[in-house]
Amino acid sequence: MSPDSEDSPSLATSIVRGLRLRCPRCGEGRLLAGYLRPVEHCSSCQLPIGEIRADDGPPWLTLIVTGHLLAPFMVLIFMSDALPLWLATTLMCLLAVGMCLALLPRAKGLFIAAIWKLGAAPHSEEDSAAD
Ligand SMILES: [Zn+2]
Repeated sequence: MSPDSEDSPSLATSIVRGLRLRCPRCGEGRLLAGYLRPVEHCSSCQLPIGEIRADDGPPWLTLIVTGHLLAPFMVLIFMSDALPLWLATTLMCLLAVGMCLALLPRAKGLFIAAIWKLGAAPHSEEDSAAD
């Protein structure tokens, strides 16, 4: 099943599956073997997930989302005197690190799913020729 075949999921479905850390083609197999290392092949449909390189996309997206979500809170907290500076700084750092750790694998899933669905994976032309 190539990314463009009729029974292939839509781009939105593939991305949702990637965000859920599932195979973008079948939605059944796991996407990542560890925290960020993709599995070689989907355990359900044998999609070669390990060949899809997300490169710098996931960290870029993680930092963009984290920065935009935390910036208003940072302004509010540091403009008011509700919290001592050391406590506000500590809380913002912990929140930023926690958000990055939570978002990074999902961003990787999103990029892997989008790359596969848009046919930018290394063997997507071979897959298309085989179907
Ligand atoms: Zn699969």
